[in-house]
Amino acid sequence: MKAHDGMYIDGAWRPADGRDTIEVVNPADEQVIGKVPAGTALDVDTAVRAARAALPGWAATPPAERAARLAALRDVLVARKDEIAETVTAELGSPLKFSQAVHAAAPIAVAGSYAELAATYAFEERIGNSVVHHEPIGVVGAITPWNYPLHQIVAKAAPALAAGCTIVLKPAEDTPLTAQLFAEAVHEAGVPAGVCNLVTGLGPVAGQALAEHPGVDLVSFTGSTAVGRRIGATAGAAVKNVALELGGKSANVILPSADLAKAVNVGVANVMSNSGQTCSAWTRMLVHRDQYDQAVELAAEAAAKYGDRIGPVVNAKQQERVRGYIEKGVAEGARLVAGGPEAPREKGWFVSPTVFADVREEMTIAQEEIFGPVLSVLRYEDEEDALRIANGTVYGLAGAVWAGDEAEAAAFARRMDTGQVDINGGRFNPLAPFGGYKQSGVGRELGPHGLTEYLQTKSLQF
Ligand code: NAD
Repeated sequence: MKAHDGMYIDGAWRPADGRDTIEVVNPADEQVIGKVPAGTALDVDTAVRAARAALPGWAATPPAERAARLAALRDVLVARKDEIAETVTAELGSPLKFSQAVHAAAPIAVAGSYAELAATYAFEERIGNSVVHHEPIGVVGAITPWNYPLHQIVAKAAPALAAGCTIVLKPAEDTPLTAQLFAEAVHEAGVPAGVCNLVTGLGPVAGQALAEHPGVDLVSFTGSTAVGRRIGATAGAAVKNVALELGGKSANVILPSADLAKAVNVGVANVMSNSGQTCSAWTRMLVHRDQYDQAVELAAEAAAKYGDRIGPVVNAKQQERVRGYIEKGVAEGARLVAGGPEAPREKGWFVSPTVFADVREEMTIAQEEIFGPVLSVLRYEDEEDALRIANGTVYGLAGAVWAGDEAEAAAFARRMDTGQVDINGGRFNPLAPFGGYKQSGVGRELGPHGLTEYLQTKSLQF
């Protein structure tokens, strides 16, 4: 795999400050496929200065021209989509078909949506005797995770560029090659020097330096709740804007009138997708007690089909963590009906698609985010009970409701404390706001709501 040994700062690949490097490993066979520089606080500072210097020019660039750069960026991503898919597969381990269909395609859709929004958004509006200007918030520090390496980057970089902000990106240490490819695409698309910068490095070093840098106006973070909490505290102390996209423990509520087989099959597919490493995954399936045994049987059958079709999890630590949760589920009295803690292959960080039945809502596996291919099936008595269980975690990122008709499902969804709910399956909408209630985060990504995160308002009274 091609890897740069420098940082993309101020429109060029520049030597890193230090000599330390990070090895990039293919989680499917544990082979080292490249190495990238481990950025220091000095690299971060150089990048933030470049972003600050580029800010006035980019902020003053007409939205139509910013839209043209975003359209060019989308076109480069389209032209290089096979390379993107191969790179994500190499460093994340996901099957190539999934990388093509999701890891490459979703960011293309999101970049395209912001090319259009930049061209059409009302950056100026009249309210009574005031003219309200929506101005870029400034320099953005974007810290992203490995689970959807390019999507997570584009979900921050595209709205930031559309808004007229400049960016310093610190991608996850497990998936830096996709981030380097993104920086190349930004360059090819003709985005001016300094507008989008990349510093690879470790979270507690480069990530923390970026979050704490006084030259950053907004820290936009996606990742674990533990790190998100720290970043929120740091930003609060500095009175700095912050957007946090954190974990989830989303409920898939199957009402008695639903097509049970379809709801279970789609639900299992949702959890196994990307080997369970999806913050919005429907990891708790809620089934009426009269249909419970049948649903468990269907879920176990469906999970067994994923046996050798899913990729590994991202690294050895994640594998250990997920296996630890499975063991905890067994210890707390849940019943394994598919999979289990044993590693299914000798090489690679694989976890068997796992389904637990007889899961009670207070169990660890029903409360904490596992981030692996593990589904918990819970029983409910009636609709009120289902709602109480669905809302009974600290999270509120996503969810699903299935019913005989959409209106019934939507009425239930309206009562859920969560940011996004798929009705009878739903479909990915790159314009719909995505983000968390409760401890799942602060702020929204995607579409016009995602754009407003990168804007601040100024009103002129006449
Ligand atoms: P993480 O929060 O440690 O890492 C996410 C990003 O934050 C990475 O770029 C990392 O380098 C950076 N980071 C780490 N420590 C930092 C610090 N002190 N200051 C600034 N930046 C820092 O997440 P992880 O270890 O990669 O994954 C652990 C868990 O997080 C997962 O098991 C899962 O539960 C959750 N997670 C959630 C999402 C999501 O999309 N919401 C994505 C990935 C992981």
